Amino acid sequence: MSISQLARANVLALEPYQSARRLGGKGDVWLNANEYPLPPTIEARPGNLNRYPACQPEGVINNYAAYAGLRPEQVLACRGADEAIELLIRAFCEPGQDAILFCPPTYGMYSVSAETFGVARFTVPARDDWQLDMTAIEARLDGVKLVYICSPNNPTGNVIRPQDIKRLLELTRGRALVVADEAYIEFCPQATLAGWLADYPHLVILRTLSKAFALAGLRCGFALADEQVIQLLLKVIAPYPLSQPVADIAEQALGAEGLALMRARVAEINATRQWLAAALAACDCVREVYPSAANYLLARFDPASNAFRALWDQGIILRDQSAQPGLRDCLRITIGTRDEAERVVNALRALASPADSARKEAM
Ligand code: PMP
Repeated sequence: MSISQLARANVLALEPYQSARRLGGKGDVWLNANEYPLPPTIEARPGNLNRYPACQPEGVINNYAAYAGLRPEQVLACRGADEAIELLIRAFCEPGQDAILFCPPTYGMYSVSAETFGVARFTVPARDDWQLDMTAIEARLDGVKLVYICSPNNPTGNVIRPQDIKRLLELTRGRALVVADEAYIEFCPQATLAGWLADYPHLVILRTLSKAFALAGLRCGFALADEQVIQLLLKVIAPYPLSQPVADIAEQALGAEGLALMRARVAEINATRQWLAAALAACDCVREVYPSAANYLLARFDPASNAFRALWDQGIILRDQSAQPGLRDCLRITIGTRDEAERVVNALRALASPADSARKEAM
């Protein structure tokens, strides 16, 4: 019997998430994974590595609770928001029976995690303005245990209207959990739903240190929820999810100084985003730049410009979103340093405009 005959059928059929690292590329301007462009200054303390770490390190949990304005009992620390996406499916969805629901175009891991566990995926495409199609969602809730809503949404950058999420919470009460993925919330902190946890015990919020905290390499994220939800997630999490060095660095990043540095980064990234949005809009090959509340911009390009490939060949690596519904010819550009943003714009300006190409062909 071959190894593949031993594997689960849904794993054999699974197409793994195409992370920016898996996609590869050779570049010196990496704008395809929504990371912060520069490493943070961290003083690593060598902990007692002969001992197992705490499952939920107190310093990390207490600091995150204080930062989010919650009680420590409402906070779960894990290996990135990606692990929280998966833990929720493992704790709440019966394979072959329950479903998750999400609204493409959106982050790809909701689908991959559900597929891994043999849990059905219902999709309700977002409307043309990338807000929730509430009527279609309401009609599709039977059998759904988890509704994943990403706000600001990756890759479109828009914040989901709070009144729609409130309506969704009313519709799902006693039936399903609503998971608000706030991976990018630091770039628009006023949009957080953390204040709603007190009223909605079936709301879960996902957070991460990978974006505004500049710690994607650390692998640390959080689920914020009612204590009962956190207790269920603790039943299925690995015994030692965070290594001691991760816990030490996360605790430091969430201290007063770490938070001040994070807020300074956010101000700088938001200013660069504004500059880049205006500069892109003035490029011949760009058809539309969409408003964004996060550390990336989505733009639709003239297909004739071959912008993705042309910049890739120059070592400027962007993220092609063409395969997502409604995003043909769209590229997502992470906001890095101002220098990197200028490299992108200069490279785009140097591309032959469609009019130039037509003229050349006529000659
Ligand atoms: N949610 C969204 C919307 C994301 O874009 C990402 C990272 N790309 C994640 C979750 C996962 O983040 P983490 O690095 O914390 O696993």
